Amino acid sequence: MLSTMQDVPLTVTRILAHGARVHGGATVTTWTGDGEPLRRSFREVAERSVQLAHALRDELGVVGDQRVATLMWNNSDHLEAYLAIPSMGAVLHTLNLRLPVEQLAYIVNHAADRVVIVNGSLLPLLAPLLPHLGSVEHVIVSGPGDRSALEGCRPRVHEYEELLAGRPVAGFDWPELDERQAAALCYTSGTTGEPKGVLYSHRSVYLHAMEVNAASAFGLTPADTCLPVVPMFHVNAWGLPHAAFMAGTSLLMPDRFLQPAPLAEMIATERPTVSAGVPTIWAGLLAELDARPRDLTSLRTVISGGSAAPPAMMRGFHERHGVRLVQAWGMTETSPLGSVAYPPAGLSEEEEWPYRVTQGRLPSSVEARLAGPGGEILPWDGRSAGELEVRGPWIAGAYYGGAAGEPVRPEDKFSPDGWLRTGDVGTITSDGFLTLTDRAKDVIKSGGEWISSVELENHLMAHPDVAEAAVVAVPDDKWGERPLATVVLKDGKPADYAALRAFLGERVARWQLPERWALVASVPKTSVGKFDKKVLRKQYAEGELE
Ligand code: ADP
Repeated sequence: MLSTMQDVPLTVTRILAHGARVHGGATVTTWTGDGEPLRRSFREVAERSVQLAHALRDELGVVGDQRVATLMWNNSDHLEAYLAIPSMGAVLHTLNLRLPVEQLAYIVNHAADRVVIVNGSLLPLLAPLLPHLGSVEHVIVSGPGDRSALEGCRPRVHEYEELLAGRPVAGFDWPELDERQAAALCYTSGTTGEPKGVLYSHRSVYLHAMEVNAASAFGLTPADTCLPVVPMFHVNAWGLPHAAFMAGTSLLMPDRFLQPAPLAEMIATERPTVSAGVPTIWAGLLAELDARPRDLTSLRTVISGGSAAPPAMMRGFHERHGVRLVQAWGMTETSPLGSVAYPPAGLSEEEEWPYRVTQGRLPSSVEARLAGPGGEILPWDGRSAGELEVRGPWIAGAYYGGAAGEPVRPEDKFSPDGWLRTGDVGTITSDGFLTLTDRAKDVIKSGGEWISSVELENHLMAHPDVAEAAVVAVPDDKWGERPLATVVLKDGKPADYAALRAFLGERVARWQLPERWALVASVPKTSVGKFDKKVLRKQYAEGELE
């Protein structure tokens, strides 16, 4: 029998209306570098979202589910686009400003974006691409930056502020949307082939934001201020803008000031309580704090996700600066939340660490299973390692097929019964703690045994002379593959591989110890700041890493 409950669609429009009405006094502060930060209340942001919706529909003729792209930093104008575009029924396409330009052009054309809203400081990136972006009819420029690069370009150019000025701040007749309709589009960063589009629904965005707000995740409240360091083009800043608008949590937006020194500065002065970003950002901030300490103890929770958080870095924050890093796992395809590593109750600080360095536990809405090499389902015994597969209401069931295409479900990404194959290999304990040992493509297959590149890296990064370490598989005549350890040493330290090997030898089995070592100036990074192991493998193959 069907229930007797109301069936109210879960939409971004509801998030917008709620944040404006109930939490209108909460603030969005955008960092401007040396100047006074830009402050807008949620009420103003919501009113400007209405103006933007009017402008897009009445002036630019955006209708139906047309795609409106953003090429923007984390700032309050970007938040307005986040709220207005999906609420109109159009699709917000966040462009990753660090993608290689060919991939950027590819995704704009694949999605047939009609409009691009761009920060003025990013025009040098967008302008040369415009002749290759056939679908783009309008460019809207927001914030400071030299406009001259747009002279003579084909799309019509608008100033964001001029476009909004004088338009009604209320009374937009938002359409009645089906909650399963597309709200936002984000492409994977293409570490494995062409970027693939993940098309989030209103329902998935809404439910995911509720989970972000759960105490077992970020636990946002009106008393918090959240600093999303993770870019708004990287999986919707992990759902934080939507979650904050729901919870009435003020936002501190870093704009383009993502370097360690300004980050430390903005945290010390604006005193956010919660933040989120990838380990590379936190490693940079830790080095900055060690060199020039600041008081960052306003932060009650800092979520680190996107790649494995080195335990030595987590301890460094905790022990030297009183900041608690919490590891979380997720992917573009999972919205991204994912597991969060909060330890069980009743443990001492020392007893908590073995739990904190795992990838954590999945929420009730995300089911997980481990698949062995032949597809067999493995037990949750903390030992059996297999590929993690997940399913749930905010997990992708297919990729966007492009403006004219059907959704695509590659076999290596989706199981025959519809679960997402994450490509991550790990174990799960009987009480649900997930530990990832590697991405399937990064694991080192040596003589029939698997070596975890992440484990070797974590140990190496705990050595006092090592700033960064990335370990990759390289071909070996005898063993098939062996680990190559590339290390970045702290200033002026000599490369003593024998000492590093001995240090590792106290922590992992002998047969796992790398014979091949290389010193690098920095580990190559992907567009979202992860170690780019594809580049390292290529450099080795071309003889550049001897
Ligand atoms: P891309 O696949 O292009 O790198 P994503 O941001 O979607 O972009 O990456 C998701 C992947 O990042 C996961 O499949 C996993 O391999 C890795 N990852 C995310 N969080 C963690 C974590 N806490 N520990 C280890 N790996 C992680």
